[in-house]
Amino acid sequence: MVEIRLTNSKTRKKEVFAPLDRENVRMYVCGPTVYDRAHLGNARPVVVFDVLYRLLRQVYGEGAVTYVRNFTDVDDKINATAQARKAAGAAGTLEELIRERTEETIGWYHADMEALGTLRPTHEPRATEFIPQMVAMIEGLVASGHAYAAEGHVLFRVRSYEGYGALSGRSVDDMIAGARVEVAPFKEDPMDFVLWKPSSDDLPGWDSPWGRGRPGWHIECSAMADELLGAEFDIHGGGIDLQFPHHENEIAQSCCAHPEGGFARYWLHNEMLQVEGKKMSKSLGNFFTVRDLLDQGVPGEVIRFVFLGTHYRKPMDWTEKKRAEAEATLRKWYRQVAEVSNSGEPYNAVVSALADDLNTAQAIAECHQLSIAGDLVTLYRTLQFLGLMGDTIPEWAAGADLAAYETLLFEAREAAMASKDFSRVDTLKAALIDAGVEVRMSKAGVELIPGAEFDPAKLEGLL
Ligand code: AMP
Ligand code: ZN
Repeated sequence: MVEIRLTNSKTRKKEVFAPLDRENVRMYVCGPTVYDRAHLGNARPVVVFDVLYRLLRQVYGEGAVTYVRNFTDVDDKINATAQARKAAGAAGTLEELIRERTEETIGWYHADMEALGTLRPTHEPRATEFIPQMVAMIEGLVASGHAYAAEGHVLFRVRSYEGYGALSGRSVDDMIAGARVEVAPFKEDPMDFVLWKPSSDDLPGWDSPWGRGRPGWHIECSAMADELLGAEFDIHGGGIDLQFPHHENEIAQSCCAHPEGGFARYWLHNEMLQVEGKKMSKSLGNFFTVRDLLDQGVPGEVIRFVFLGTHYRKPMDWTEKKRAEAEATLRKWYRQVAEVSNSGEPYNAVVSALADDLNTAQAIAECHQLSIAGDLVTLYRTLQFLGLMGDTIPEWAAGADLAAYETLLFEAREAAMASKDFSRVDTLKAALIDAGVEVRMSKAGVELIPGAEFDPAKLEGLL
């Protein structure tokens, strides 16, 4: 069996991965808050943990991996959209409008992430469907002295958990000095964080022993992970921005609720995405969603390929240059594998590269080797394994069938040789080059190779 090694944020070491149960390897990844379209940065953890999911399925078997990724559907921004729609005269109760907003956002999320070749997790729990489990967990924490109720809130008593700060490597006192902790009169300690908070009448809320209210964000993940994966499971993932405080708080809640458990054994964090060397932000004008890119004609496979080019623990830069290179490489590979059939296993060197702490850049390098060596059956299967293609060549690349244009140019050249008038040949060549096609003419014939900038629309009317 292939040995998987992963960098565990908890120990800051690359460790051999040994699951608790090889028949049921369990992974939890923090999912999106469903208030709007996913931006390109949100897609990074989805692709990173999809690669890990695929690797685990390859090594332990397709039915031997349980992958949970939640939807956070309790959120002020969702409420704000629903309230705005209601104020604008939309029909339905606030609850219905909230449900409508989250349904629509989840639909977008599924479509956008599917375009990136990511598999659906085994379970995609919504926070609103696990409120009783959250309430029960909070009750347990209050009973064991790890939490206290105050003015309709329930707070986690951070100093009651000795291990607090271990994941992010901070001491509680450092955190107080540096953090933007919310000071509130009802808190025993500024570090204490909210497990439950009261809801006003115009906001969604659930009945609880502490009055009508709603859960804090951190308890959502703890309760859903516990319900679906148990008190101890293998891997917990998410963006590095979630390490503190979100993951630190998840650990504190879960380990205090289930001291026998231990919660997640391996913690994996992906670094952030930037755009042309800068943080992606609305104010810099470089903020865009996955859907924006897809609508501009950037294929999902190209986005995924660019993501795979950077190791998940390094910041990754989205650039126009990388997009163009990715598109050219994929066009070449798809053209190569177009004629082969799907059979066999992915290339073992690619599986080994991923087993080495998800070395996706190395995996791509190995694919280049397969392409050069002409081992196209293996390349085909490996591209599928990496999520870069399904059962057929993606339409955007399959559309690049230039055979008819090759014949056209070949015949025009034959005619020109006889007439000594090459103007038609020159016009055709110029049009092809303008459409992003490389034109190779030799005695033997004409070869047309679509480049990264290939635009089939520009060829319309030539034939
Ligand atoms: P959110 O919906 O904001 O809670 O984020 C959902 C996921 O996207 C989390 O795992 C974040 O860590 C991740 N994320 C947000 N922004 C970025 C970014 N710029 N680069 C990479 N991951 C990000
Ligand atoms: Zn979480």
